[in-house]
Amino acid sequence: MAAGQPIRGWNGVNSQLAGRLAKLDLHGPRDLLLHLPLRYEDETRLTPIAAARAGFPAQIEGEVLACEVVLRPRRQLVARVSDGSGTLVARWLNFYPSQQKLLALGRRVRLFGEVRSGFFGDEMVHPRVRVVAPGEGLPTALTPVYPTTAGVGQATLRKLIERALDTEPMDELLPPAWLARLGLPGFAEALQALHRPPPDADPWALEQRTHPAWRRIKFEELLVQQLSLRRAYLARRARSAMPLPARGSLTRALLETLPFRPTAAQQRAAAEIAADLAAPHPMQRLLQGDVGSGKTLVAALAMLQAAENGWQAAMMAPTEILAEQHYRKLSAWLAPLGVEVAWLSGGRRKRERAVELARLHDGEVLLAVGTHALIEDPVTLPRLALAVVDEQHRFGVRQRLALREKGADGLRPHMLMMSATPIPRTLAMTHYADLDVSVLDELPPGRTPIRTRLVSDARRDEVVGRVRDACLGGRQAYWVCPLIEESEALQLQTAQDTFDTLVAALAELRVGLVHGRLRNDEKSATMSAFAAGELDVLVATTVIEVGVDVPNASLMVIEHAERFGLAQLHQLRGRVGRGTAESVCILIYAQPLSQTGRERLKVIYENTDGFEIARADLRIRGPGEFVGARQSGVPLLRYASLEADVDLIAPARELAEDLLAHKPTAADALMRRWLGGREGLLQA
Ligand code: ADP
Ligand code: MG
Repeated sequence: MAAGQPIRGWNGVNSQLAGRLAKLDLHGPRDLLLHLPLRYEDETRLTPIAAARAGFPAQIEGEVLACEVVLRPRRQLVARVSDGSGTLVARWLNFYPSQQKLLALGRRVRLFGEVRSGFFGDEMVHPRVRVVAPGEGLPTALTPVYPTTAGVGQATLRKLIERALDTEPMDELLPPAWLARLGLPGFAEALQALHRPPPDADPWALEQRTHPAWRRIKFEELLVQQLSLRRAYLARRARSAMPLPARGSLTRALLETLPFRPTAAQQRAAAEIAADLAAPHPMQRLLQGDVGSGKTLVAALAMLQAAENGWQAAMMAPTEILAEQHYRKLSAWLAPLGVEVAWLSGGRRKRERAVELARLHDGEVLLAVGTHALIEDPVTLPRLALAVVDEQHRFGVRQRLALREKGADGLRPHMLMMSATPIPRTLAMTHYADLDVSVLDELPPGRTPIRTRLVSDARRDEVVGRVRDACLGGRQAYWVCPLIEESEALQLQTAQDTFDTLVAALAELRVGLVHGRLRNDEKSATMSAFAAGELDVLVATTVIEVGVDVPNASLMVIEHAERFGLAQLHQLRGRVGRGTAESVCILIYAQPLSQTGRERLKVIYENTDGFEIARADLRIRGPGEFVGARQSGVPLLRYASLEADVDLIAPARELAEDLLAHKPTAADALMRRWLGGREGLLQA
């Protein structure tokens, strides 16, 4: 389409403007309705220049006394405006000739901007200018300021939105009873209030987005998020998968040979999963359980249920260390039952890999454990019926889906995702609305609670002494090196230095070192030695953060603990307290502590329950990082905040279920209004 050509059905918008509006995701007048103000400016009042306060936005009205293009220190347009009470300098570093014309000598103009004290007295840089007609009054309402992009001025947006408000239908799509229950205004009313706030509107509520009109829009947005997640869930559920009825031949045998009994929570989760697997639709379940709650056993039972039916199951773990540990654990559990497990990881020798690959390809081995090596090209699992992803938040969506694609043509394997990153229930509702969730809310018995100690780094020597005592007493210890996020090189150097110092200080002990840059076989050898008790102290970077399970290790030292996030500290601390010995976690911190650092250490010191810690984390960090953690296709929220609007999430979910069941046309219309044609994104 030639630039400048008008767009049909979109008055006053030519193709050039349309291209720019498209960058704002505005593809037609209807989209403009939901393009809501970022903030508002109060142009209902004038401030005398003499009374304008530096650092605050103000609107002044005066006469142009001078206006010229100045070339030093750089090219800029400088105008002087006086209102009788004082004179103000306005400067524009980028300007159009039209602007210069606007500021003709003697004109009355209104300038809106932040006042600062500059070299020439009070000034405004890049203020908004409007020429005032004689006798023109002030606006009676707050002026909306919209998110925009280069080449689309506020005035243009305002004009387009004004027109859309007058011409576009604003159908009410929510049931009136729900609006009454939540105390929310109708759709049209809410949009009018946000785009054209009445003169008596509460500016604070508008600015803070707590105004009922905002809440109404945010509720609708959360509702649409729920609708699309539930739709995606139902669409996946409608596909077919291999039904794997619980035969019990292998699962029962495992439970009989285990040295312990599953907890009630493990039994409950295992039963939920067993029922899912028996259905002819793909399971899509998240198994959430705090560090040490015993997720591996639940996964093993599910994998055996596949094997009982002659189908394959694969478990993918995010690190070599963890994959190998799972492999060893599963092999140890399953060898007595005569069930073999294949192990695929980047670190294994070519020849070993080839053997494993062939056995999996032929269906000779039914169970596989590995890193992302499992999803690499040559791997085929022709009878894959169950895919387990451990520490699922460590993988991107694409990797998780790739494992699913490894199965036979057209057959969707059942999916079990596991996570030890507990998230508060309301967040789970927005993030996992497309999954079923089982929770392990109980730790196996016999665990002695971990005691946490906070120690200033001035007392590092005492901590070294504690490590010596613990290890001479037959226990083992982890020493986690300071986190240096900015530089990997520095991180490695620090790990090496810490190791050297501890080797020197603990000459009577056997000290090992693992970090991310070691070759896989080196890493694996060190981890195995530690697990076998051949090393007393393991100096490590956060590579040991997830999953590592060495029950005899009962002392965890974390240096510069204030640099770690709460979830990370909780994960790290969870490496101890896995055996019957009393475990201690020593958090060494450096002074001075920042406010957040102090707050985080207090939380980790006072709490051991992962859910409590997650709630506190949410409070301290805000939900942004939780959102990032899932790296999923969950639609981003434009207006609703998972912090401020958390109370709207549960009702949104409830209404979503209700609409999908009873008013599918309203559900469709809502999704069209908010997502246009973008629902497809979620169908993964
Ligand atoms: P996580 O949920 O963190 O992945 P794991 O599966 O690694 O936890 O289990 C932690 C430890 O607890 C392992 O050593 C495991 O063998 C053991 N374990 C699991 N279930 C039980 C149980 N019911 N009773 C006793 N120990 C158990
Ligand atoms: Mg685990």
